[in-house]
Amino acid sequence: MKIICIGRNYSEHAKELNNEVPTEPVIFMKPKNALLLADKPLYYPEFTDDLHYECEVVVKINKNGKYIQEKFANKYYNEISVGLDFTARDLQEKQKKKGLPWEIAKAFDGSAAVGSFLPITPEIDLKNIHFQLKKNDTIVQDGNTKDMIFSINKIIEYTSKFFTLNIGDLIFTGTPAGVGPVNVYDKLEGFLNGKKLLDVDIR
Ligand code: MG
Repeated sequence: MKIICIGRNYSEHAKELNNEVPTEPVIFMKPKNALLLADKPLYYPEFTDDLHYECEVVVKINKNGKYIQEKFANKYYNEISVGLDFTARDLQEKQKKKGLPWEIAKAFDGSAAVGSFLPITPEIDLKNIHFQLKKNDTIVQDGNTKDMIFSINKIIEYTSKFFTLNIGDLIFTGTPAGVGPVNVYDKLEGFLNGKKLLDVDIR
């Protein structure tokens, strides 16, 4: 099982981190040990002083595939949730400046929190999913998949050119604007179309 993540998929977020708006999806991955299981706390890692949340819509792959065309991509996932792409922003900035890979900043143990999954029913319009993150009861991120630069199906087409997608793989589809720091004792809650799916305490 692998975790595929898309960076800079919402232009307002790309701008807030002074990145260019991409013309092709920006992909990175997290290993299996990055997965933070439902309702487990994240222990603030000792190697960073600037741990950030990034709330994202997550889809779960339910069929193996390679070179999947955009028009068939919807047959490769049937569950959706929200997740947190935890990022050691200080390490990431250092790596970016040097032009080095981001893994130490993005793929560490517990860096991919995922909420409970909802089946994708016809009432869920994938191009109009409202999702929110609350930190200590205040809304800090408020996004909608209509603002994605690359749609879920486009992401699947693009990533499957390079990597075979396997049953159980997760795709983090990018974060909207409003990313920010977390501290020990913060409580994070993720919502999809108003339904709470994710709960993470920072310890
Ligand atoms: Mg992200």
